[in-house]
Amino acid sequence: ALHHSRAFSKLIVVVAVSSGGIVAYADAKSDHDVESSQVSGKKKLVVLGTGWAGTSFLKNLDASLYDVQVVSPRNYFAFTPLLPSITCGTVEPRSIVEPIRNIVRKKGGVRFWEAECFKIDPVKKKVHCRSNIGTDKDGNGEFTVDYDYLVIALGAKPNTFNTPGVVEHCHFLKEVEDAQKIRRSVMNCFENASLPNLSEEERRKNLHFVIVGGGPTGVEFAAELHDFVIEDLAKLYPTLKDLVRISVIEAGEHILTMFDKRITKFAEEKFQRDGIEVKTNFRVVKVTDKAITMTNNATGEINVPYGMAVWSTGIGTRPVILDFMKQVGQGNRRVLATDEWLRVCNSDGVYALGDCATISQRKVMEDVSEIFRVADVDCSGTLTLKEIKDVLGDICERYPQVELYLKSKQMKNFVDLLRDAEGSLLKESKELDIEEFKKALAHVDSQVKMLPATAQVAAQQGNYLAQCFNKMKICEEHPEGPLRIRGQGRHRFHPFRYKHLGQFAPLGGEQTAAQLPGDWISIGHSTQWLWYSIYASKQVSWRTRLLVIGDWTRRFIFGRDSSCI
Ligand code: FAD
Repeated sequence: ALHHSRAFSKLIVVVAVSSGGIVAYADAKSDHDVESSQVSGKKKLVVLGTGWAGTSFLKNLDASLYDVQVVSPRNYFAFTPLLPSITCGTVEPRSIVEPIRNIVRKKGGVRFWEAECFKIDPVKKKVHCRSNIGTDKDGNGEFTVDYDYLVIALGAKPNTFNTPGVVEHCHFLKEVEDAQKIRRSVMNCFENASLPNLSEEERRKNLHFVIVGGGPTGVEFAAELHDFVIEDLAKLYPTLKDLVRISVIEAGEHILTMFDKRITKFAEEKFQRDGIEVKTNFRVVKVTDKAITMTNNATGEINVPYGMAVWSTGIGTRPVILDFMKQVGQGNRRVLATDEWLRVCNSDGVYALGDCATISQRKVMEDVSEIFRVADVDCSGTLTLKEIKDVLGDICERYPQVELYLKSKQMKNFVDLLRDAEGSLLKESKELDIEEFKKALAHVDSQVKMLPATAQVAAQQGNYLAQCFNKMKICEEHPEGPLRIRGQGRHRFHPFRYKHLGQFAPLGGEQTAAQLPGDWISIGHSTQWLWYSIYASKQVSWRTRLLVIGDWTRRFIFGRDSSCI
């Protein structure tokens, strides 16, 4: 039982047989240090977090090559895309979680500490952790773990934009516990509204569900809730069904802005038909226990009474990452930056991936001469259409964010791009002045955004980094890797390249919208079945796959469970 910090405060020698041989864990240096003197001389690899990035890394890592330790306050992996389904009982919480010890069991030798990392010390190469279950003899449950390599996959926290009252009165939808709380809260609102001696106004207030944020999570929750009310609760609370109101408040002009315009339009029209109120151009400025205060240029401030509010307006940086950023000279940034190899700048052996980090935006313009050189294009005079296509192909390969930008703007070719860059067009001769071309690139540079904070990016990064770690030794023995794009020397590994596989937006009523690679848009009932198949296939284990499919079947046959436990 090594999970308890008291266990390693004494002299212990544990011998574990791993796939890579025998690993001995010996005497801790001080009462609070977790240290291992490996007879094998393996390097110490510490992984922080067991979310999408951390789990994907661990699943793909050859753990026999390192002395691996994992630190996370939750001892399971959660399939977050199904969290909205938990809020209304479509899927049960235990169906979407897999114990991390199950996932790493076959790897042998991987040690897991259920604890929270509260400080990273890049100078001493230590992480400071606090157990969230047990306490040591000083009563604080703190210990440190040394590393040679550190993989930071801590995810993000909900972003409240410091809006007063949000933390106290709103629900978030980030963790499994959040989804469970929302499920109880929805049922409490219905039970409260059914109590005797309430005025209609009070009943309406209890049954007003407000979702702040019209992104994919907020929209999916609104759709789930609407289905729950229509398909299940209307039968159980027939006198209340007409008093229910669901509102989505969005600061921008539309909901689902990260999707193609056709999907946004379909979603807004569907919500209107379903009676889900979408309030765009409204910014929430305050939340109290009774009302949400929002403002808009036309109406000014208005107070809206509510029964339950869910805050879903994006993500912010965790305090431990902010503290680490200060130590590595990134104190003026909002998100921890890495290079394209996922290495944190100014710190030795530290990697960061998933929602807690971003790949530092290298400007296309900084690379343009090098790209011309690689594409064998003369940098003076004019470019032919073929040369433009070659260069654009190369840019898209190097800068996935440029490709995403072109797709999001539905620009299939460079002519569109040039048109977007303030009317610069290809000349009739199909040749383009090099300066015009650079102008268009500068325009793209100013528009492209970072990689999205999604499970897809996190999982691909985890897989990529694991492959790098698996090859690290071979690469050290054979240092000649692919040519550097810039500067001197050679890199050991290819940089990380994100491959966008498309995204879904479930809209309720067994209808889903999908934006798939190649700008393929699909909306409707058939896409819902595509969603079912993909989400079932993406489950982390056969156990969760069967549980999730079982839950969907149960819901089809018996409806959702409305008990308030
Ligand atoms: P996480 O998965 O959040 O993992 C972070 C890990 O770090 C957790 O294990 C956590 O316990 C641990 N941790 C936190 N603090 C500490 C600490 N101090 N010390 C040690 N460990 C710590 N993306 C998609 O691509 N498709 C979707 O359909 C989709 N739907 C979503 C629906 C919802 C409701 C939500 C909330 C997100 C959704 N996402 C989706 C986004 C996706 O979940 C995230 O992008 C993804 O989880 C990021 O992975 P991560 O590993 O960086 O962080």
